[in-house]
Amino acid sequence: MNTWDVCKEYLTEKVLEECWHVQGDSKTPICYKCASYFIEPSGNRTFDNIRDLHALYSAIAKKGLRVSLLEYLLLETTGQKWEFDQRFIMWLFCVDGSPDDFKERCQMIAKWYKWKEGKE
Ligand SMILES: [Zn+2]
Repeated sequence: MNTWDVCKEYLTEKVLEECWHVQGDSKTPICYKCASYFIEPSGNRTFDNIRDLHALYSAIAKKGLRVSLLEYLLLETTGQKWEFDQRFIMWLFCVDGSPDDFKERCQMIAKWYKWKEGKE
């Protein structure tokens, strides 16, 4: 399993609290962990689209963790790749006209969640 697969599994199970489906046998597309039937190859989220990013943002809001995410982003962006400025905020909320890097936003959320867990 590569790093991106580990990250997707982490986001699914820790942040969304959903099942990361694993097929029981090659004949039937049924998850051995939750017994759900899926039609797509794995039935798992890909985190490279607006739907999955929105699910993450919704889960963060429902858990009351928006401030924690912003706190992390302020720390993380100081003197780093990103500056916590208007451009970054526009990028974060997918309103900067380049919404095709959902994966990078999802990876950033995974990094934050691990950082948050490390503080607890
Ligand atoms: Zn499952």
